[in-house]
Amino acid sequence: MKIAFIGLGHMGGGMAPNLAKAGHEVRAFDLSEEALVHAVERGCQRAASTDEAVRDADAVVTMLPAGKHVAEVYRSHVLGKAPKTAILIDCSTIDVATARSVEEEAAAAGYTMVDAPVSGGIAAAEGGTLTFMVGGSDDGFAKAQAILEKMGKAVIHAGEAGSGQAAKICNNMLLGATMAATCEAFALAEKLGLDLQTFYDISSKASGQSWSMTSYCPVPGVGPETPADRDYEGGFAAALMLKDLRLAMDAAKEAGAYTPMGCEAEELYQRFVDRGGGTKDFSALIKMIDDSWIVPEENI
Ligand code: NAD
Repeated sequence: MKIAFIGLGHMGGGMAPNLAKAGHEVRAFDLSEEALVHAVERGCQRAASTDEAVRDADAVVTMLPAGKHVAEVYRSHVLGKAPKTAILIDCSTIDVATARSVEEEAAAAGYTMVDAPVSGGIAAAEGGTLTFMVGGSDDGFAKAQAILEKMGKAVIHAGEAGSGQAAKICNNMLLGATMAATCEAFALAEKLGLDLQTFYDISSKASGQSWSMTSYCPVPGVGPETPADRDYEGGFAAALMLKDLRLAMDAAKEAGAYTPMGCEAEELYQRFVDRGGGTKDFSALIKMIDDSWIVPEENI
């Protein structure tokens, strides 16, 4: 297949080469020359623009920062430029409303489009082990599945257009809230004089257990190896968690849903990012909660 791949950053830069490795002709484009060169070195073909990349493509995959980039790329450079037979797949994490409106515009222009945001970070993008949550028609899902399988370990049909984004932000709202609660519990355990490894041994086998605790423990030296053991470097940046929590809160407002825990998690991550923690793994929130975070000078 000829696949146009637009957006070759941290995630797309790992994903596009996996399609090339699977034998597809991948025409790659990014506004960043550095990102484009990196993808070409790893088996993709250079396109001079999005318009050129999509010209006779069988599929278009996008991995862009936010809703405004997705809307602009599809409205100005994909719809009417790619063949109508091409399946359009947006893997970016964006707001549900933009995902639905771009998919409606694509359908009105005669295309089949799905939203397919991912769970898993840069390592999963590189390793082809992402989980895709797909919103769109049965036909769109079937066409997208054959391509997404080459970049992931699981491809799940979440429902109609926008449902992939809805599933993604609900999941990440839950993740943000459980991580904040896990950080709080460890901070309180320490103040109450508990040995933190002992608290982990108890709580990880009791009803307080969660993924945030057993797979991503925010305390260095406790539980499995996590970003906490690398001074919270690598992993899932707090700024990206904040982005997803904002998307969840916007969606909650629009849908009239009451989400007090998500709202509190958003406020906590906003404060942590404002204090210079944006590039740290999101489990580093514990350093703000236990008051050990040293605010960088430029953020004071
Ligand atoms: P990134 O900023 O590293 O990459 C985005 C790329 O898009 C950049 O290289 C940028 O130059 C390019 N771009 C922007 N506008 C463009 C345009 N008009 N035409 C062509 N290229 C354009 O971001 P990322 O970390 O790769 O994340 C991409 C998406 O995946 C985001 O929506 C993010 O929320 C989501 N996501 C990221 C992670 C992660 O761990 N990084 C995990 C899950 C989901």
